[in-house]
Order: sequence, then structure tokens, then C-alpha cells
Amino acid sequence: MAEPSLPPRTRMTPARRAVVDAVAAYDGSFTVVQIFDVARSAHPGLGLATTYRTIELLRRSGVVHPLAAAGRAAYVRCRPDHHHHLVCVTCGGVEETDLCAAPSDAELKRRHGFRAQAHELDIYGVCRRCA
Ligand SMILES: [Zn+2]
Ligand SMILES: [Zn+2]
Ligand SMILES: [Zn+2]
Repeated sequence: MAEPSLPPRTRMTPARRAVVDAVAAYDGSFTVVQIFDVARSAHPGLGLATTYRTIELLRRSGVVHPLAAAGRAAYVRCRPDHHHHLVCVTCGGVEETDLCAAPSDAELKRRHGFRAQAHELDIYGVCRRCA
């Protein structure tokens, strides 16, 4: 997966670099506090607030995605193209899938007069390894 990047015209500071590197090292879901613990060993002056703000910057540039229903403030690395997440509630692992059952834009337009721009869907369950 491509290296996570900050939005354009955002200054890369050593503290932000430590957070971005810590995010880059995660495969499954992670919390801000987990990232903070990893990043702080690379950059001891790092604060939790900076960690939150940097992850928010990554969220805005679409390279991390918040997992709303994970029951804790968890995130996963992401990419901008269309896919959904299969989140394992046992191990925290996250798989991406191209499967999508969202109503088509045309159907939404016809039935609701609604012009769809985007949709989000995360599926929670137990992965193949944990089953
Ligand atoms: Zn994703
Ligand atoms: Zn699992
Ligand atoms: Zn979809």
C-alpha cells in the first residue's frame, strides 16, 4: 500500500513524520493511543494532541478511514478508490473487498430524486483466521 501522506500544503514536521511512519507500519485497525505509543519511541517529544491532529489530517486526505462501529476510536489505513472494509472483531484485522451492494446512483435518483456522491460501508464480523 502507498505511503500515507498529509493533505497538500500541510507542513511535514518531525512529530507528524513520526505519526505518519507509525501509521504506515500498521496493517489492521489501530487506535490513536496505539499510534501515539509507537510514534513516541521515535519522537519522544510527541504529544497525544499532535497525534490526534495528525491522524485527522490523514483522514482528510483519505489515507486513513475511521471505523465508526468498532466501539473505540479506531482507524484503518485506506486508499481513495472504491472498496469496503471487513473488520474482524476478534483480532482487529481489516480486509478490503470490492464487493458492494449499495443501491445504484440511477436507482437513488429515480426513487428518491437523490444525487449520490459517496457511500461508506464497513462490515464487522469474524475473519477466516479467527473463525
Ligand atoms: Zn479502505
Ligand atoms: Zn480475525
Ligand atoms: Zn460500495
